[in-house]
Amino acid sequence: MKKNILIVPGDGIGQEVTAVGKKVLDKIAEKYGHEFTYDEALIGHAAIEATGNPLPDESLEKMKQSDAVLFGAVGHPKYDNDPSAKVRPEQGLLKMRKELGLYANLRPIKLFDELLGASSIKPEILKGADILFFRELTGDIYFGEKGRKDNGDTAFDIAQYSRFEVERIARKAFEAAMTRGKKLCSVDKANVIETSRLWREVVQQVAKEYPEVTVEHQFVDATAMLLIKDPKRFDVVVTANLFGDILTDEASQIAGSMGMLASASIGDGTGVYEPIHGSAHDITGKGVANPMASVLSAALLLDISFGLKQESEDVINAVDQVLKAGFRTGDIADSSTPKDKILGTDAIGEEILKRL
Ligand code: NAD
Repeated sequence: MKKNILIVPGDGIGQEVTAVGKKVLDKIAEKYGHEFTYDEALIGHAAIEATGNPLPDESLEKMKQSDAVLFGAVGHPKYDNDPSAKVRPEQGLLKMRKELGLYANLRPIKLFDELLGASSIKPEILKGADILFFRELTGDIYFGEKGRKDNGDTAFDIAQYSRFEVERIARKAFEAAMTRGKKLCSVDKANVIETSRLWREVVQQVAKEYPEVTVEHQFVDATAMLLIKDPKRFDVVVTANLFGDILTDEASQIAGSMGMLASASIGDGTGVYEPIHGSAHDITGKGVANPMASVLSAALLLDISFGLKQESEDVINAVDQVLKAGFRTGDIADSSTPKDKILGTDAIGEEILKRL
């Protein structure tokens, strides 16, 4: 298979972990005889420094032309401490999502058995949990009209969804459910919110096309509780932008460290694959960042954008084997981890490559 992959490392540890993700893609190409060609593009603080623009037109054009994007992270402490800065790294991220029409954000939440002790939730509750979240990414309260009135003393944000927007993400979630446990939980607040009522109505309608999938509708407040109480009850979860933002961060704790979680943002064009963590400036340049989220993002890329299921499985298995061999980065090590098993970014990357 011949594919063009755009590497967009961004800022901070994005640079360090994406380099490992790329090596893994290279190894897979070598092993299976695929021809992957690569280009690089700037985004975030790195792009502002070079061009004054957090997402230069050249980067966007390269994204549109590529078959998939492996993305790192954006962010810089300079902007975190200055919320009023007019040009900001995350503007690049939001523009990328909008311009590429990335309306579905997928987050697989699965804990590797070796890391059961790393989560703050009891191992017996966690073991076997395997959830795939679909968060709608381009609608809801984030993109509706917002403003102030009454001399600035009253603020408002309008939440809005169209039937079309709900339908297209619901369909993606049902399709995924068909390839997994055929169970789908749609999360809303249909008892009080009108957009949620439309959401539920549309999901019920789409469900008729997938009679094999068992569907349940949960209120978002109950879901927040059930995720911690009984994560195993969930298979595929689909929800709106705001609820998804909050619930996926909560669910990330099921998997222990941020350094382990990958995500995919997809629409009808190029898909973008990225760790859920940020640019982590507290550890940038120290060579200690966990690259597994980027490696697992590469696995998602192979599976979702290229349909290379076996190759994707191979990558996940290689990560699993490295963990089984006892190797850890600092963020997933605990007091029982021998010192010589705690590796830096490149060294743990090499262990993954060896097992591929
Ligand atoms: P963060 O995810 O960068 O870091 C949170 C904590 O987790 C830090 O202590 C960090 O050291 C640790 N951590 C994160 N990833 C790790 C990894 N791979 N290995 C080991 N430890 C890891 O979140 P933050 O500190 O809130 O934000 C830092 C910057 O990142 C900010 O500028 C923020 O705006 C940006 N950010 C970007 C994205 C993105 O690009 N998608 C997402 C979140 C935050």
